[in-house]
Amino acid sequence: MEEKSDKSDCTEFYKCLTILNLMLDGEANEEEESYFKLHMESCMICFEHMKVETEIRKLIKSKIQKQPVPEDLERDIRVKIQTISQS
Ligand SMILES: [Zn+2]
Repeated sequence: MEEKSDKSDCTEFYKCLTILNLMLDGEANEEEESYFKLHMESCMICFEHMKVETEIRKLIKSKIQKQPVPEDLERDIRVKIQTISQS
């Protein structure tokens, strides 16, 4: 029997969620981390969840670090873009 709509197939979802949050905060211990990594290989739900959570964290981080871009850097990027578009 093949079914693709097994949305809540993870029996350890709550545990995984807890570990995932610890991992993203850099507070998970080795045991927890290896558990989650192993689990992720066989659980698409947690794998997808991990990807989403990671992206969200990145987004939040980039929003927090909303500092003005240094002029040098901006010029650098412009030059790079120009170089790319000219080639
Ligand atoms: Zn899972």
